[in-house]
Amino acid sequence: METHLASWIKSTPDGEVAEAILRRCVHCGFCTATCPTYQLLGDELDGPRGRIYLIKQVLEGESATRATQTHLDRCLTCRNCETTCPSGVEYGHLLDIGRKIVEQQVSRPLPQKLLRTTLRETLTRSWIFTPAMRIGQQLRPVLPAVLRAKVPVPRPAGLLPTAMQLEEHQRRVLLPIGCVQPAMLPSIDAATIRVLHRLGIRGETLAAAGCCGAIRHHLGDERGALQQARRNIDAWWPRLEQAEAIVLNASGCSVTVKDYAHLLRNDPAYAERAAAVAARTRDLSEWLPTLVLEFLGRQANPPGVKEAVVFHPPCTLQHGQQVRGQVEKLLLAFGARIQPVAEGHLCCGSAGTYAITQAELAEALRKRKLGHLLAGSPDTILSANIGCITHLQAGTEVPVRHWIEWVDAQLATLGATASPR
Ligand code: SF4
Ligand code: SF4
Repeated sequence: METHLASWIKSTPDGEVAEAILRRCVHCGFCTATCPTYQLLGDELDGPRGRIYLIKQVLEGESATRATQTHLDRCLTCRNCETTCPSGVEYGHLLDIGRKIVEQQVSRPLPQKLLRTTLRETLTRSWIFTPAMRIGQQLRPVLPAVLRAKVPVPRPAGLLPTAMQLEEHQRRVLLPIGCVQPAMLPSIDAATIRVLHRLGIRGETLAAAGCCGAIRHHLGDERGALQQARRNIDAWWPRLEQAEAIVLNASGCSVTVKDYAHLLRNDPAYAERAAAVAARTRDLSEWLPTLVLEFLGRQANPPGVKEAVVFHPPCTLQHGQQVRGQVEKLLLAFGARIQPVAEGHLCCGSAGTYAITQAELAEALRKRKLGHLLAGSPDTILSANIGCITHLQAGTEVPVRHWIEWVDAQLATLGATASPR
C-alpha cells in the first residue's frame, strides 16, 4: 500500500514501524472474513482492513475523531487477522501505534476515563486487587449478577511441595506470578508447580515482579507498561542464568513478555536484556506438553481417562504466539475424548479488559463461543489463559479450567510412582 506519512511521525521510531507495516498490506481483505468484530457488526471499519485504513489516515495527517477511537477500541487485539493475512502484516504493532496517536488527539468522555484509570490502577496492584477479590468471593452469593460474573468461585490451591523437595531438582525454570491470577484462581499456579515437581523440575516463583504490563499496554498507558516491563527484567535477570526458561501459564502474559524485545527496542539501557528475556520466554502450553508426554511414556500404567473435554485455545496462544495443537495432543495421550469445536479460531470476547470496556460485544462473543464449546455436552472446558477461563465460566455451569489443573489432577491419580527423582 502506498503511504505518505505526515512529517511529524514519518522519521520517528513509531513512524518507521508503521510505514513498514502499512506497505506490506495489499488491501486484499482476506483478514476481514476472520475478524470477530466484523462478523458481529458487519462494518468494514470494525474489521482489520478498515482499521488499518483509519490508522493510515491519521498517520497521514487527518485528525482522529471519536468515531476513529471507537472503531479502534472495538478491536479485541486477538490477532486472528495476522494468522489469516498472506502478506505478513503485523497488525497488532500497527494498532498499538494507532491507538497511542488517537489517544493523544481525542479526549475520552469522563466515565470512560474513570473506568480505564480504575482498571489500570487496581488490576495491576495485587495489594489492592487481592483483598478486593477475597471480599468479593466471600460476598459472592449476595452480589448482583453482573458483579458475581466477574468473581470466580474459589478453588482450593492444594498442597505444594516443600522448599526442601524443590531444592533437590537440578532443572529449574522461572515462573513469574502474575497480577490477577493468584487472587482469582491460585489453583493454576499451584497445579503448575506440582506438575513441574513430578517431572523433576523446580518452578521458581517470582512474586516480586508483578504484572507483565499487558493491562496498561491495552489501556493506552504505554509509559506505565514499559516501566512494568523494565521492573520485570530487573527482577528476573539475576536468576535467569540458572534457569532453562521463563515459563508463563497465562498466554495473555507470555505473549506480552515475548514482545518485550519490540517494546523496549529503543531503550539503550534495556533493549539487549529485553531481547534476551523475550527469547528465553515460553508459554506453558508450548513448553510443557512434550515433557509430560515423555513422562507418561515412562509410566508402567498409562492413564485411561474417559472424560469428554473441549479445549479453547486463547487468541494470545494460537494467533499471538502461533502455538497450536500441543495441549490437544497431551489431552489425547491421557485418553480424553476431545470434542471438535466449530469456529475454534474465533475469540471468546475476554481479551484482557475488553469484557469490561466493551461488555456488549464481549457478551455476544461469549454466547457464540459457548454455543460451539457446549455443542457436544462436554464434561469440562479447558483453556490456557486466566481471562478466557473466568470469562467463559461466567456464562456456563460446565466447569472451565486451565489444562494444567486438569493434568495435575490426572497425574495425582497415577500415585507415588509418578514422582521421579
Ligand atoms: S492485512 Fe493482510 S489480509 Fe488484511 S487487507 Fe492487508 S494484506 Fe490483506
Ligand atoms: S485483532 Fe481481532 S478484532 Fe482486531 S482487527 Fe484483527 S481480527 Fe479483528
